[in-house]
Amino acid sequence: MLQKLTLLNKTILDYLAEGDDLKIAKAFTEVGVKILEADFGFVWFNHSLRDEDWKLVYKYKVPFTPINPRAGGRNYKVVTSRKIYYQENLKNVPDADFLKKHMKSFVIIPISYREQAYGTIVLCFKKEETFSSEKRILCEFLGNGIAQVISSHRSRERAQQLKDTEMLLAQEKLKTEFITNATHELRTPLAIIQGNVDLAMQVGQGSEKYQKSSRATLRAITTEVRHLSDILADLALMSSKEDKMNAKIVFAKVDLKKLIKKAIARCRTLSYRKKISITASSIPDVVFVGDKAYLEKMLVNIIKNSITYGNKNGHTEIKTTIRAGFVVIEISDDGIGISKEDAPHIFERFYRADKSHTSTDHSRGLGLAIVKWIVEVHLGSVEVKSTKGKGSSFTVSLPLNIEK
Ligand code: ADP
Repeated sequence: MLQKLTLLNKTILDYLAEGDDLKIAKAFTEVGVKILEADFGFVWFNHSLRDEDWKLVYKYKVPFTPINPRAGGRNYKVVTSRKIYYQENLKNVPDADFLKKHMKSFVIIPISYREQAYGTIVLCFKKEETFSSEKRILCEFLGNGIAQVISSHRSRERAQQLKDTEMLLAQEKLKTEFITNATHELRTPLAIIQGNVDLAMQVGQGSEKYQKSSRATLRAITTEVRHLSDILADLALMSSKEDKMNAKIVFAKVDLKKLIKKAIARCRTLSYRKKISITASSIPDVVFVGDKAYLEKMLVNIIKNSITYGNKNGHTEIKTTIRAGFVVIEISDDGIGISKEDAPHIFERFYRADKSHTSTDHSRGLGLAIVKWIVEVHLGSVEVKSTKGKGSSFTVSLPLNIEK
């Protein structure tokens, strides 16, 4: 008996990971046939197996007709009892002649756990059977065991479904936020353009004032249009980030020295305007694997920020080292710095630490989100250390070799 119970327990554990109710119950029926020494058995689930209010259905009088076990439901009777039904012989079963050819005894075991009925298994004996107390206990154990496995499998399934739904909702929320923010970003430059056009149209045509004002208007419009196309380029990059962008990355050999020098060169005009000096001494002579264009964009974004948020006559320093198979680039400035509260958020899309920098300052809050993405597709990392009022230091680590 103990051996048989152990076999049942082991089977229950095995099937806990199984993902198909019918398969679980069928396999248990086989186990049931074995441990109860029955000759054959079958499992029967109601069609509406997943309905919560499903009632146990027993065959009325005759539990099993091997040729046509469920024809039109003729032989079935719905009963509310979940007790096991033992038929030790067919003597009192009317019209049992046909059945006798196949079996002499049977047992119907409900698959039921905590008021929940899932189905029945029917085990049949070719010889007459006396159901000993041992067999009765095993029958009960079998029915409860299967039901418990099915019940825990279903609750796991439900938990997974819930998790999937939550994830979908979170993604949907992110998308909506992205669209809302993007719309907001685009609206500001458009409003400025509209304002300028309105103003120009109010001034009398042909007058000297008109000519002067139209030049200023066109200048303002050009600046905003450039800003708009910058925003659109960044938005395109960010919105396609999740799927197709990875495919667009071209991994090739990158010369570290050339990369850093080119990025600095692209920021020169901006740094001259603010009289900020940029130094990058002793860059290691290293060639590593990466996407040149994207890495350059990443560095430009960080260097430009060091100028934008740097003080006049300030300094930006770029230090590069090779450490444990990584290129480590540290870009430090002595600018306005970032507060402790803002620092964890600056890599988020559209986040601006200094709220006084509005869209009119051409701050988009996308630069560092793009930096993070580029670094991550290179399997690297980026972090910031900063003290408000003293300056910031961004450290980018990129693996020398990317195993793809
Ligand atoms: P943007 O500069 O267009 O606003 P970023 O994503 O590049 O967007 O930066 C996000 C925010 O992080 C900035 O608005 C700014 O407040 C802060 N920040 C970034 N770099 C620096 C820096 N070097 N010094 C101080 N603040 C910075």
